[in-house]
Amino acid sequence: MKTRLAPSPTGALHLGNARTFLINWLLARQQGWKILLRIEDLDGPRIKLGADQQAIEDLQWLGLDWDEGPIYQSPRQGEYRLAVEKLIADGCAYPCVCSRKEVDRAASAPHAEDGAAVYPGTCRNRFPSIEAARQACGREPAIRFRVPDEIITWTDEFRGPQRSDAAKDLGDFVIAKADGVAAYQLAVVVDDAAMGITQVVRGDDLIDSTPRQIILYRALGWSSRIPIYRHLPLVIGSDGRRLAKRHGDTRVSYYRRLGISKERMLALLGRWCGVPGIGDSATLDELSNRFDMAKLSHSPIVFNNGDDSSFYEGNQMRMINGT
Ligand code: GLU
Repeated sequence: MKTRLAPSPTGALHLGNARTFLINWLLARQQGWKILLRIEDLDGPRIKLGADQQAIEDLQWLGLDWDEGPIYQSPRQGEYRLAVEKLIADGCAYPCVCSRKEVDRAASAPHAEDGAAVYPGTCRNRFPSIEAARQACGREPAIRFRVPDEIITWTDEFRGPQRSDAAKDLGDFVIAKADGVAAYQLAVVVDDAAMGITQVVRGDDLIDSTPRQIILYRALGWSSRIPIYRHLPLVIGSDGRRLAKRHGDTRVSYYRRLGISKERMLALLGRWCGVPGIGDSATLDELSNRFDMAKLSHSPIVFNNGDDSSFYEGNQMRMINGT
């Protein structure tokens, strides 16, 4: 059994990521799973220089260790390319020259589950080959996965039975961008399969990716390698929105720099994981002994940062005072 911690170096590790990683780590250490650290650095323009090192240092500071890695995705383009070529050869993927604007304009169903427009299939049977698409449009095509007209069902170990109407909810999605870089959905499946990942524990903002990933496993002939998924509620701001800059500085490194001790930080995260009897300070051993996944709340954690100007200080004080 093996899980992975998979930070994207598009920004610093914040308290929400730290909580998800902590739960993943606690589960792994309780269950005896191996842990792999994978840096998901494919999202070119959004990658921040040094964010990978920062994430590694933050994890190390918290004491969340791993058995394998770090493995970076960027040098693995050749593996992703092979998978894309196989899908094209099997008729499971095709070139697409639509721009995002065109997709948005032509989409019949306004939006997929995750807010992206459902691709209307404009290029589905349009070009006999990638070369033909290139010739006809004078630009590099993206590659889309031909989604089967099927209901995908699966069981999330934390959230229970799930269902997705692939054609209606997902639509044909991009697996390689026009610049040739593999899209997240493809890269994650190729990597999880190649690296022997059996357990995926991640934020529930990614739950709509799971049916896409499951159909990719099937199309690549890897059905037996589909991992067990657990999607956890996120940490949100008091406005109900996902933790972001507007909620102030919630980076783990920010608290480190303020001199907050690791034990104080672990206590806060531990309380957010529903660990009972946690006071002002905690060690990983204590959390590991007392954490119970079966008791984990299904509601998001609300990070209450107090009001605007009092935020930094108020928050800092609460962390220091342990309230
Ligand atoms: N790298 C992704 C993120 O930071 C996680 C991907 C995954 O767990 O599948 O959101």
